Amino acid sequence: MACPLCRGRETEVCVEIGVHQVRRCTGCGLLSTWPDLTREQIARLYGDCYYAGSGARRFQLGPAEMLMRLFRYGRASRVRRVLGRAPARILDVGCGRGYMLRWLQDWGYEAHGTQLSSAAVQFAREDLGLANIYHGDLSEAGYPGEWFDFISLYHVFEHLPDPVEQLRELHRVLKADALLYLEVPNGGSLPARWLKADWLAWDVPRHRFHYDVDTLSRMARACGFAPVRAHFFSLEYSPATLLLSLLAAAFRDQHMLFRCLTQGFAGVGTAAPAQSARVLVQGAVACLLAAPVFLASVLLGWGKAGDTVGIYFRKLQTAPSRDASVEATRRMAGPAAMKEFCA
Ligand SMILES: [Zn+2]
Repeated sequence: MACPLCRGRETEVCVEIGVHQVRRCTGCGLLSTWPDLTREQIARLYGDCYYAGSGARRFQLGPAEMLMRLFRYGRASRVRRVLGRAPARILDVGCGRGYMLRWLQDWGYEAHGTQLSSAAVQFAREDLGLANIYHGDLSEAGYPGEWFDFISLYHVFEHLPDPVEQLRELHRVLKADALLYLEVPNGGSLPARWLKADWLAWDVPRHRFHYDVDTLSRMARACGFAPVRAHFFSLEYSPATLLLSLLAAAFRDQHMLFRCLTQGFAGVGTAAPAQSARVLVQGAVACLLAAPVFLASVLLGWGKAGDTVGIYFRKLQTAPSRDASVEATRRMAGPAAMKEFCA
C-alpha cells in the first residue's frame, strides 16, 4: 500500500507487537501498522467491543468510567474557551457516547457528532438527548460545505485508513478561517521510543497510522490547514498511558491492568484467584507510582516529548489538489523525528 503522505512504498520495521508491526515510511517518516486492515475489519473492531456491556460504557469499572465523564466536561470547557460564546456549530468526529457534545449543547451550541458504534449512537441519542448524531463515517454523512465553526477529532485520526481523504472532507465542511483540532497519541514521544512494544498507545491493529507533530502537521498542511499551536500533554491520556506502559514493561503481561479496566476481569481471560492477585498487585504498584509518573508525564509534555500531541489548525482558503498536496509534502521538511526511532 502506498504511503498516504508521500505515496512512497518503502518501509522499515520499527516495532514488532505480536503478529503486527509498526513500520516507518522511508520517504516521509510516517508510521503505519502492518499488515493492512480493510475498512470493514476496522469497523468490526469497534462495533463489538469498544463500547461493551450495558449503557455502552467504555470502562467496566466504576471509578474509571466516572473519571472519563469528568474528562469530557474538561474537553467541552476547552472547546468553549477556544470558540467563545454560543451560538456556533460544532462537529465532533468519532464522538464516543456524546458526553462532551451534551455539555456543549447545554451551553447553547449546536452540537453534531459522528460515530461508528450503534450502541454508542443509541446512547447519545436516547440517553443524552443529542439529536444530531450521525451513525457512520464522516465521508458518508454528507454535511453541507463550509458549515461548521469548529471540528474536533479526539484520538480518532490515528484510526482512519485514509487520513488524507478525511482531511479533505474536513476542509470542505469547515468554515473559512475556522479551527480544526486533532489530538492523537504521540508516536514520536520519548516513551514510545524507549518502551517500544510496551507503549500502550500503539494500540495495533486499531491504530492504522501513528503520528508525531511533524508528520501530522505536514499532512494537514498539504490538505489546506495551517498549524496554529500544539501541546504535548493530556491530563486524560498522558499520565495513564505512561503508567500502564511502564507496568507492561515491568510485568510483561500484555497490558493486563488496562484490559481489566476496559473489559472487567473477563478481559484478562479468567477470574481465577492467581489472575486477580496479579491485577491487585499491579493496581498497588500503580498507586505507588502514580505521583512520580504524573510529574514525569507533565515534564515530558513541557519538553514536547509527551505521550499525546494535540494541534489546532486553521483552515486556509483553498485546499490544493491531492497531487499538489503530495508534491507540497515532498518539498516540505524531510524525514525528521522518526529517523532515529528505527536506528
Ligand atoms: Zn511516506
